Amino acid sequence: MSSPGAEPSIFSRIVAREIPATIVAENDHLIAFEDIAPQAPVHIVITTKTAEYANVVELAAGDPTLLAELVRMASTIADERTQGEFRLVFNSGAAAGQTVFHVHAHVMGVRDDSATLGEGSLGSL
Ligand code: 5GP
Repeated sequence: MSSPGAEPSIFSRIVAREIPATIVAENDHLIAFEDIAPQAPVHIVITTKTAEYANVVELAAGDPTLLAELVRMASTIADERTQGEFRLVFNSGAAAGQTVFHVHAHVMGVRDDSATLGEGSLGSL
């Protein structure tokens, strides 16, 4: 959980439109935008508008309904961009590669019908 008085996360600044991002979906609780350094042909970040939860474990404990909503948004984005098949990654902790401590999911996939979701087509996070 972010501490009171802490600097807003980079994702809070995207939510506030303080820094630009290519936003692909948004509702009252969530925002989805293209990752600035994509690791796959389709690489979208979905984050919560609240900065209350640092990682998916905190979100699952604190607001499982919001976590389910995030998964639904991932599925909708994949339906639109990757024929519905996708990888959903939550890095949890610096040692696991997390760099932004504001809960978010990476939605990754491929556009081409003939491609697969094997290691060769998607980068690892
Ligand atoms: P993490 O490493 O915490 O799991 O994921 C953070 C992700 O946010 C990284 O994939 C990184 O490329 C992305 N990212 C970091 N800063 C920005 C930014 O300013 N704009 C966008 N669109 N993505 C960002």
